[in-house]
Amino acid sequence: MSWLFHTVRIGAAALVAAALLIGCAQRPPQTAGESASTVQAQVSAELRGRGGSGQRLAVVATFSILGDMVQNVGGELVEVTTLVGPGGDAHTFEPTPADSARLAEASVVVENGLEFEPWLDDLYAAAGSHALRVIASDGVETITTNSGAGHSELDPHIWHDVQNAMVMVANIRDGLAAADPTNAAVYQANADAYTAQLQELDAFVQAQVAEIPQERRKLITSHDTFGYFAHRYGFTIVGSALGSASTETADPAASDIAALVEEIRASGVPAIFAENVANPSLMQTIAREANVQLGPPLYTDALGDAGSDGSTYIEMIRSNTAAIVSVLKE
Ligand SMILES: [Zn+2]
Repeated sequence: MSWLFHTVRIGAAALVAAALLIGCAQRPPQTAGESASTVQAQVSAELRGRGGSGQRLAVVATFSILGDMVQNVGGELVEVTTLVGPGGDAHTFEPTPADSARLAEASVVVENGLEFEPWLDDLYAAAGSHALRVIASDGVETITTNSGAGHSELDPHIWHDVQNAMVMVANIRDGLAAADPTNAAVYQANADAYTAQLQELDAFVQAQVAEIPQERRKLITSHDTFGYFAHRYGFTIVGSALGSASTETADPAASDIAALVEEIRASGVPAIFAENVANPSLMQTIAREANVQLGPPLYTDALGDAGSDGSTYIEMIRSNTAAIVSVLKE
């Protein structure tokens, strides 16, 4: 019966919406004694029986950062599969038949939205998936990029603002609770505990960034991925090598690189940054031509491998912050 959830967009009223759908969708009329909670319990049991994961809810997360958030909210109750793993680039991801099978078996798929996963709609349809789609970015105040040749793009990289991560966690909590209402209180408690950690993380970033003089809070990276970080923590994005909010773009022309080099020189910034999801050679070239330092690669669109200092969302943000502060502070 999970198809009932097919088109539900999860928000604050998710449980109510799910109950309404169950009440009016194409299923045999309820008998007088059949309460909505009984129906929800049946849905929950059926959902949890899917995917060969025993009693655990089968959840697919589109990329590693979301996978970590889902694991934190779902805990022992979920079996999380991540499509684009650590170090992987969701912009240019090419799904395999195995990914299609994962979606077909899933009860819930958690996606970023904002065109970050341009391949997901086709994959979902091809898989014949009936998974509940949870859009983690729902309710986030979006921004557009302002680098590039006079064009702006919707920026999907919301997670670099830790306040947005809290919204993502709330959406994940509501989505898991809608798919598995029996355990809603557990998801709520897990989300509350994790959100408390995120609040500490947000304060940590603010305190660390305060060590960088205002005039040096400038970022240059491979692609436009730090707009939300800049917005929240008081940085300016000087530009990016690719001049795009996606890595799925042509290599920049020599004239574009020359223009960026000039902007870097004019900005007085001492360093630029490579990314863990992009080949560093272009940034090495730009750093050399601009005569600035190439900082350590930042975790931008993916976590680092297990054992790295970016293997969870919280570690990734702490590690990025430490790297940025160490290079840009006087
Ligand atoms: Zn990106």
